[in-house]
Amino acid sequence: MDNYIQQYEKFVKEIVAKSYPELEGRKIIVIEKEAKYRAKASYTLNGLQITMTYKLRKFPRKVKKRIITHELSHMVDFVKDGWLKTNLGFYRYLLFPNVRHDCERRVNIREIERGYGNYILDVIKENKKRKLQHLYPLTEKEVKRLIKKHGVRR
Ligand SMILES: [Zn+2]
Repeated sequence: MDNYIQQYEKFVKEIVAKSYPELEGRKIIVIEKEAKYRAKASYTLNGLQITMTYKLRKFPRKVKKRIITHELSHMVDFVKDGWLKTNLGFYRYLLFPNVRHDCERRVNIREIERGYGNYILDVIKENKKRKLQHLYPLTEKEVKRLIKKHGVRR
């Protein structure tokens, strides 16, 4: 178990240092769990936490990094909003699809602004293959336009 957590923690460190100055110096706990979802960001009483499910262990490195980049982007909102607002907001996120849509859209756009537009395009391609693109909060056209504006980190 330890080396997976270590790998995830290494990705967290790298990505925060490169792209999320708001999270610099914050303790971010990574745990593993069995769950239906793939990964989740939360603001617990112990602090910021990323939950990675066991099924992610066999995913390619690139996908793991992509998932962590996304969860860290959620955390930029968490630290801006603070613990209470984040946790109250979580129920609204679960209950209301439009709240969820707006939140995911904001988080994805932030990823593109920070240079991870290629990750977002990969997700869109995968969703297309699985005929799930209607579930995604951004269209391919929008993403490509934003990438043109913000560039892509190599
Ligand atoms: Zn998300």
